[in-house]
Amino acid sequence: MSRALSLTDFRRMVIKVGSSLLVDSDGGRLHDAWLSSLAEDIAKLHRDKRDVLVVSSGAIALGRAVLKLPAGPLKLEDSQAAAAVGQIALARTWSEVLGRHGITAGQVLVTLQDTEERRRYLNARSTIGKLLELRSVPVINENDTVATNEIRYGDNDRLAARVATMASADLLVLLSDVDGLYDAPPAGNAKAKLVPLVERITPAIEAMAGAAGSELSRGGMQTKIEAGKIATHGGTHMVIASGRVAHPLAAIAGGARCTWFLTPANPITARKKWIAGSLEPRGVLTIDAGAVAALRNGRSLLPAGVIHVEGIFARGDAVVIRGPDGAEVGRGLVAYDAEDAAKIKGRSSADILSILGFGGRAEMVHRDDLVVGRA
Ligand code: GLU
Repeated sequence: MSRALSLTDFRRMVIKVGSSLLVDSDGGRLHDAWLSSLAEDIAKLHRDKRDVLVVSSGAIALGRAVLKLPAGPLKLEDSQAAAAVGQIALARTWSEVLGRHGITAGQVLVTLQDTEERRRYLNARSTIGKLLELRSVPVINENDTVATNEIRYGDNDRLAARVATMASADLLVLLSDVDGLYDAPPAGNAKAKLVPLVERITPAIEAMAGAAGSELSRGGMQTKIEAGKIATHGGTHMVIASGRVAHPLAAIAGGARCTWFLTPANPITARKKWIAGSLEPRGVLTIDAGAVAALRNGRSLLPAGVIHVEGIFARGDAVVIRGPDGAEVGRGLVAYDAEDAAKIKGRSSADILSILGFGGRAEMVHRDDLVVGRA
């Protein structure tokens, strides 16, 4: 159901999948069932004409198991060999799980230089662009087999952020073994609170990021914050969410705990994306054709244009706005509780005071709180 996936409000998104989500820490087995559920979420977005890119870790974790390399940090040449072995399995897996939905995966292995040297950057960008044009899902990883310590990302969080800005994605989803950024290290600290929204990455936000990471994934919270800086400076929103649940993308859309990082590149757009893409709508306003035209011209939604009110919502909640034919026109934050909205629907704003006994806003949904069409 497209309603469950309000991520469709984003046009192009990069989904980063960490090693510890894909691969079992002992034994190096793939988490097949989980991966299938993620592939279903991706397929839904793809069917909704969204461009999806995957940045997948797991090559080294898979390869080290096959090669029976010892636990603990690997020497560079060992991780290069592990990546050479594991990348084959990783690519085959993605090709298979996406193939079940009729989606063609395209493997893209990049190095740090590919994202930093202009000529190579343009080259990588145009290949990714072509794959998307052909409706393929690029599956991207660092080319760990040829990358050396001095010239490698080493973690896929920052790589994914560079890919997202390179591909002009409007959203980067970091699926991780943590569900977001906490104001204190969450392990063993019941008082640590999750930060749901970061409008700007300040030194205080950076200070919250501990250095912890699991053995399989390279990225702790610090690299995620670094990724957040790259993404948001490049005009891409980012969300850190748990990948430890089935259907992790649907879970985000359904209001699961996570941390959103908004790009300050365009604050109005950022706010609108936030309204359109990350709030679970609590109700539906059906409006008449005149109001549809007004909204499309950038105007606010007045009570007079509302024909029908559905759902249980409070002032400030997100609602879906539908035209007389039932088609979604947009989403917005409603200025009245459901009960009051029902009383003033179809009425002139001048009558609000006499109907409700108090004078609220003249608009049912103010234009600043409204996103019309796809963001
Ligand atoms: N590129 C590495 C791999 O595929 C993983 C890096 C990371 O976990 O962030 O194994």
